[in-house]
Amino acid sequence: MTMQFSVLASGSTGNAFYIGTEKEKILVDAGLSGKEMTRLFKEINVDPNSLSRILVTHEHSDHIKGLGIFARKYDLPIYANEKTWKAMEHALGRIESEQKFIFNREETQTFGDIDVESFAVSHDAADPMFYSFHHNGKKVALVTDLGYVSERIKKTVEAADALIFEANHDVEMLRMGRYPWSVKRRILGDSGHVSNDDCALALKDIIDNQTKRIYLAHLSKDNNMKDLARMSVENGLHDYGFTVGMDFTLHDTDPKVPTPLYEVV
Ligand SMILES: [Zn+2]
Ligand SMILES: [Zn+2]
Repeated sequence: MTMQFSVLASGSTGNAFYIGTEKEKILVDAGLSGKEMTRLFKEINVDPNSLSRILVTHEHSDHIKGLGIFARKYDLPIYANEKTWKAMEHALGRIESEQKFIFNREETQTFGDIDVESFAVSHDAADPMFYSFHHNGKKVALVTDLGYVSERIKKTVEAADALIFEANHDVEMLRMGRYPWSVKRRILGDSGHVSNDDCALALKDIIDNQTKRIYLAHLSKDNNMKDLARMSVENGLHDYGFTVGMDFTLHDTDPKVPTPLYEVV
C-alpha cells in the first residue's frame, strides 16, 4: 500500500494539503472557504467524507479560513498544539470538544498506517509547526511559512522522497514592490518567509539520493511568479551541482488548482 498526496492549494491566499493511504486520509490546513475546499477535493477525486482528520500548522487565515466550516460539514477531528488552539479558536465557530485534539510540536503521532512527525518553524504565529509523513519506509515533508531554515529542520526533513518547500518571494521584487517597509521587513526577517534563493540554499543540504520530487510552495501573489521561482531555484541548485530533471523533478503549486495526486513509490 502506498501514500498519495496533492498540494490542494498553496500561496499567500490559501493553503491546503492532502495525504493519504488506503486506510488513513489526512488534510493539513484548510485555508480556503469551505466551498472551495470541497471543490479542491472533487478535483483530485477524493471524497471529503473519507477523510480521517485535519492537522493544523498555525493560525494564520491563509491556513484556517475554511477550517471550522469544513470540519463541521464532514465531522472531522482537528489537531493542533495548545497555543495554536488558543490563537485560532475564536475564528472557527462552534467546534465540539470531541473534535478537538492536541498535537504537540516535536512529537510523532501514529494515525492508522501513517506516522506523522511535527517540527517547529520560525514564523510570526503563536506556535507554528509543520509535518513530515512516514509510511512503509517512504517520507513526505511539508515545509512552508518559515523565515529561516535551521539545521534542525534540515535534519528533520532530509531524505524525504517528496518535499513541499516554500519559495515565497523574489527578494528584488519584494524590495522594489509596493509593500510598506514594515511588511517587507517582516517577510524578509527570521520569522517571515523563505525567498527563492534561500529555498535553493536550503534544498542543497536537504536533497539526497532519495529525493525524487520537490514542489515549490507558498508563492507570494505580489512578489513572485511561478517561472521566476522555478528558474531561481533551478539555477541556484545548478550552482550547487544538482541537475533538475535528472536528480529529481521540480513542480509548481497553485493557489487554486490542486497538483495531480502523486503516488509515492
Ligand atoms: Zn501561510
Ligand atoms: Zn503563516
